[in-house]
Amino acid sequence: MDLGIRGRSAIVCGASKGLGLGSAQALAAEGVNVLMVARSADALEAAAEDLRRAAPDVAITTCAADLSTAEGRDAVYAASPQPDILVVNAGGPPVKDFRQLNEQDWVAALNSNLYGMTDLINRAVTGMCERGFGRIVTITSASVKMPMVGLDLSNAMRSGLVSYCKGISAGLAQHNVTINSLLPGLHATERLDGIFVARSAMMGKTPGEVEELSRNQVPAKRFGTAEEFGHFCAFMCSTHAGYMTGQTVLLDGGAYPGLA
Ligand code: NAP
Repeated sequence: MDLGIRGRSAIVCGASKGLGLGSAQALAAEGVNVLMVARSADALEAAAEDLRRAAPDVAITTCAADLSTAEGRDAVYAASPQPDILVVNAGGPPVKDFRQLNEQDWVAALNSNLYGMTDLINRAVTGMCERGFGRIVTITSASVKMPMVGLDLSNAMRSGLVSYCKGISAGLAQHNVTINSLLPGLHATERLDGIFVARSAMMGKTPGEVEELSRNQVPAKRFGTAEEFGHFCAFMCSTHAGYMTGQTVLLDGGAYPGLA
C-alpha cells in the first residue's frame, strides 16, 4: 500500500534507537524526509548514517537536542520549521518507588514527558492547519489504559498528555490535522532492558527472570519489535488515516485485559 506521504517532511523525536528509530525507518521507507532528534550526537549520527544507506532517495537530517528544554525544542524547529508529520517521543521517566519521588523527579518528568511534548505539538499545529495537512503521533505507554506499579511518574504524565491531545484534536480535525497516541506494551528496546534491571531489585529476582515472567504474561508470548511499531506509526501518519483523530491505540500483544 502506498501511504500517500512521499515527499512529506517529518520530525521524529527520540529517533536514535528503539521505537523512535523504528518510526523514522518506516517513514523514510515511505519516501518521507526525516529530521531525527535525540540527545547523544554520536548515536544519533550513527543511526542516521544507517538510514541514509537504507533510504538513499530521502533527506535524513539530525538535530542533537534535549527535548525537555526550550533551547532543545528551539533547535529542532530551527532545523525543520514546517513539519508535515511530528512523532513525539522521548525516554520514559525513571522506575522508582512512589514514596521516594521528590519535586525534582516530578519537574523532570513534566518537562520531558508532558510540558515539553505539548510545546513540541503547539509549535507544529499552526503551520499544519494553514497547509491543510498534519499528522501528529505521540508515543506514550500502555500505562495510559493500565497504570503500572513502579512507573508512577510515567502513569501520571502519559495520561495527562493523551488527555491534552484529545482535547485539542477536535479543533484541528477540520484542517486535516490529526493527533493520535500509540500506546506501546512491552517492546524489545534498551528502555525495556532498563526496566527489567530496575524491577529485579524491587522483586528480588534477576533481570533475566523478570524478563521471562514479563514475556509469559503477554498473550502473544513475545515482545513487540521496533520495526512493527514503526510501520504502524507510519500508517497513522498516512493519508489513509485522515479520519482518525484523538484516539489511543494499544500495541501490546493482547496484554490489556479489558474491552476499551
Ligand atoms: P529507548 O530505547 O530508551 O529510546 C529512547 C530514545 O529517546 C532514544 O533515541 C533517546 O536518545 C531519546 N531521548 C530520550 N530522552 C530524550 C530527550 N530528553 N531529548 C531528546 N531525545 C531523548 O526507549 P523506547 O523503548 O524506544 O521507548 C520510547 C518511549 O516509549 C519511551 O517514552 C518509553 O517509556 C515508552 N514505552 C516503551 C515501552 C517498551 O517496551 N519499550 C513500553 C511502554 C512505553 P538519547 O538518550 O541519546 O537522547
